[in-house]
Amino acid sequence: MNKYRFSYTERYALWKAYNGRCFYCEKPLEFQDMAIDHILPERLIEFPAEFKRLRQEYEIDENYPSFQINDFTNWAPAHFRKCNIRKGKDIFPKKLTLLLLENVHKRIPKVHQELEGLYRKRGRDNMLSSLSAAIENKHLSVQEIRKFVAQVEKSQHAEEPLVISFGLMIEDVINSEELPSDVSREYPYLCDWLELDLVKRLRAVITTPFHYTQPSERSGEGLSVRIVFPSLNKGEIEKLNISWWEILEAANFWDIFGEKYKDAFPEPPNQEYFGQLEAGPPTSR
Ligand SMILES: [Zn+2]
Repeated sequence: MNKYRFSYTERYALWKAYNGRCFYCEKPLEFQDMAIDHILPERLIEFPAEFKRLRQEYEIDENYPSFQINDFTNWAPAHFRKCNIRKGKDIFPKKLTLLLLENVHKRIPKVHQELEGLYRKRGRDNMLSSLSAAIENKHLSVQEIRKFVAQVEKSQHAEEPLVISFGLMIEDVINSEELPSDVSREYPYLCDWLELDLVKRLRAVITTPFHYTQPSERSGEGLSVRIVFPSLNKGEIEKLNISWWEILEAANFWDIFGEKYKDAFPEPPNQEYFGQLEAGPPTSR
């Protein structure tokens, strides 16, 4: 089935809103160890009749009119493997489900507060605000990012490809002397241009294929993209000149998505798959 791909921002906001603790065991939860659990299992999306029956039987809509399977109304942070080992078919009984949903519901204002914080501008010298928030809270230092890259090789899923998230603040780009004067400063167009700019920078040094894992994230003030490198020559990445782009996260595919690259992308998309530009890279207007 097509599993929902969480953005870094969603993951980070959820983790913060629960004060870095596991929803189930309530013990401290390292950001890197967090899995996002669905209170009502995600597979219900594929079984609309069963889902509808369950919604009625459990009185979900009466209690939580805004409930959706893939939304903060149904997500909870949990220790990877240890605390989210329900089998796909397991559905909690009604009372327990409603109790869990109630607890999740109580956190939603906090989640939105965190999201707003992440999107809020934090000064012109900062990179993507989610990264600055992460660094402020000492959960993602530059050294750690380097460490992640090194760990990818040694980790449990060492065969899984490297995924790097790149981000930038639009204001920094607009103020940069490097931005050609004929490029539109209009946000959507500039984002398209910048995404293509990143791809060009990568192509200048990376000789193996790479592609987006999901559409880019556009917050209005920032832009971030996640790119997977299925067969990277490691030396090449060090030659990258990423200019206004910053590396927000580097980890192996499994650690980010909790599934194998080959399962998620049985047929690697061709190089022209660029997230929300699925039809291809932006054309000049
Ligand atoms: Zn736990």
